[in-house]
Amino acid sequence: MRRNRRVKIVATLGPASTNEETMRRLFEEGADVFRVNMSHATHEGLAEIHAMVRKLESEFSRPIGILVDLQGPKLRIGQLDSGAIRLTQGDVLSFVRREAIGGLGRVQLPHPEIFEAVEQGHTLLLDDGKLKLRVVEASDVRIDAEVMTSGTLGSRKGISLPDTVLPLGALTDKDCADIECALSLGVSWIALSFVQRPEDIAAARKFTRGRSAIMAKIEKPSAVNHLKEIIDLADGIMVARGDLGVEMPVEKVPGLQKQISRAARNAGKPVVVATQMLESMIYAPVPTRAEVSDVATAVFEGADAVMLSAESAVGKYPVEAVATMDRVAVEVERDPLYAAIIHAQRIDPLATGADAISAAARTVAETLNLAAIVCYTASGATSLRAARERPQQPILALTPIPATGRKLAIVWGLHCVLTDDPRDLDDMVAKACRITYQEGFALPGQQVIISAGVPLGTPGATNMLRIASIDVGADE
Ligand code: PGA
Ligand code: MN
Repeated sequence: MRRNRRVKIVATLGPASTNEETMRRLFEEGADVFRVNMSHATHEGLAEIHAMVRKLESEFSRPIGILVDLQGPKLRIGQLDSGAIRLTQGDVLSFVRREAIGGLGRVQLPHPEIFEAVEQGHTLLLDDGKLKLRVVEASDVRIDAEVMTSGTLGSRKGISLPDTVLPLGALTDKDCADIECALSLGVSWIALSFVQRPEDIAAARKFTRGRSAIMAKIEKPSAVNHLKEIIDLADGIMVARGDLGVEMPVEKVPGLQKQISRAARNAGKPVVVATQMLESMIYAPVPTRAEVSDVATAVFEGADAVMLSAESAVGKYPVEAVATMDRVAVEVERDPLYAAIIHAQRIDPLATGADAISAAARTVAETLNLAAIVCYTASGATSLRAARERPQQPILALTPIPATGRKLAIVWGLHCVLTDDPRDLDDMVAKACRITYQEGFALPGQQVIISAGVPLGTPGATNMLRIASIDVGADE
């Protein structure tokens, strides 16, 4: 089973899709990675999903990624006595630190960190940005804020503080427990929500100690301000447009999407474009033209993956949503302009052996119009550099390590196959050709280029390129 596109699809699981039959169909239609949102899932639920994904993997003999998305420090106001209060522009609302039931003019805020960090002039956004307030006075125990947009405020609604850098780590106690659960199962990716600073990634890394890859969700202005350092520390990046569009003006999101995806591609780290990609498919079997165009834009930008959230988690048409994304991606990648755009965005190799080899492999493959690039990879690092080249040819990543295959499932252009390390150079060539043929990437008589490290099986030592022909007897 092979995909006819290079961009990958991440499908979020939820009540609409968490069952074996739907997950099988999602995979068949194009889901390369399943995302579990820990704001809603339980540990038992995650364990069940994990078991179902592993079953699918063996059924289809393909590595499948699991992305566990942590809830992070989602801030909420306290209870309101009447359940909801009306806020009118010009009113002043007080947020109090001590425990109290909120009512007219006063709301409890059960987060001492906010009182420590907020300053006069800062913006407060309530209920996904539907209500906007500006701080007129702030003390250790009380914040007075003027209502800028009128509306109704309900109990326990979320609050965002786009201007305030909060003295909060990105990991709550719940997140730590969720990480433990994810690590015990062996999931490939853990995503951190509401990252503010590079230290947030470092803190998660201490926890995971390499047992899972870490994705930083960029959804706060402070993360945008520290983008480069965050990308340096993380293994992957998500353009989390939902909260990003709450914390920053929505009209800034498209430009940020381009900035973030370029920076991640430059670093050779996978970047996922997320949220509302096919939003109307939550209720309808066909997307809007604007949504199709949004998916297409991400594909043209060379994003590693496009993501479905509510569409596949709670929507009426989860399978159709994945199939739609797949069709759009295949069509965009066939467009003659696609190759030109990807070529124009190509990034220079760094002065390392892995990059020099990856760039050379691409050049040889394109010059000789080879069928595929095959790389032997242990940790996955070599194939990440090969993908960073965004070659025209498919890339097969051969690895003996299942965890590597699952991690690479989210990366642009990589078709991962599990196989033992080759015994010797002849075996390396024979295996690469046989697998390329069997997986449907080359016909007998076509040629491939193979990168590997000699001596074989030494991690991080890619130092060899070899052109080889698929044996005409391969199909016998
Ligand atoms: P969420 O993250 O779905 O967990 O909120 C994605 C986003 O904010 O876009
Ligand atoms: Mn979010």
